[in-house]
Amino acid sequence: MNKVNNIYCVGRNYAAHAKELQNEVPTSPMLFSKPTHALVEASGQDISLPSNRGSIHFETEIVIRIGKPYEKGIKVEELVDSMAIGIDFTLRVVQSELKKKGHPWLLAKGFPNSALVSKFISFPSIEEMKMIDFSLLKNGETVQQGNIKNMIFDLQTIIDFTALNFGLGEGDLIFTGTPEGVGPVSNKDHLTLLWGNSVLGECFIKLDLIV
Ligand code: ZN
Repeated sequence: MNKVNNIYCVGRNYAAHAKELQNEVPTSPMLFSKPTHALVEASGQDISLPSNRGSIHFETEIVIRIGKPYEKGIKVEELVDSMAIGIDFTLRVVQSELKKKGHPWLLAKGFPNSALVSKFISFPSIEEMKMIDFSLLKNGETVQQGNIKNMIFDLQTIIDFTALNFGLGEGDLIFTGTPEGVGPVSNKDHLTLLWGNSVLGECFIKLDLIV
C-alpha cells in the first residue's frame, strides 16, 4: 500500500443505512476521521478487534485514495488514483453512548484495525463504477451490497467538501459511507471484500481482550 496521510470517513451517505440506524438523512456531508494507526490491509490474515467493548459492526465502503494535491475545480477522476473496498469497523454500543452524551465518535471508530482496506486497484471512471456493485461476504454469504449511484453525496461533492473544510492531498484516503445491511462480527468470521465478482481482500476476525 502507498503511504497514507489522513483517513477521512463519510457518515450516513446512503439513505437506507441512515434509516436502519434511525438517523436523519443529512443535508450536508457528515465527516469524521480515523488515526492512521487504525489502518490495516486485509490480505488473508487474522484481524484483531476488541472483544470486551460491546458489539462491533462492519460497514462496507468504497475507499478512494487521493493521488495529487487538490485544486479548486479538479475532477474526481483526475484527483483520485486508486480505490479499494474497506470496512469502517464500529463499536456500536460505545458509539450509541457517545452519541447520547454528544461526545466525538473517536473511541467508537478509531481503534486499531478499525480502518480495514482491501488491496487498491486503479480508479475506474465514475460511469464504470456505477455499473459495478461492491459487497461484503461474511462466512460466504452476502451481507452488504452497494453501489455509488445510491450515495446521497457523490464523490465530487465529498472531495470538494473535504478539501474546503480540512484540506486534501496526496495519500489521503476517504471512506465514502456504507449502504444498508451493517451488522455484527463474531470471533473467527471470514470476511471477503468484493468489487463485482473480483475478490480484492479477505480476513478472519479475531476478538481479543483489550485491557
Ligand atoms: Zn462508515
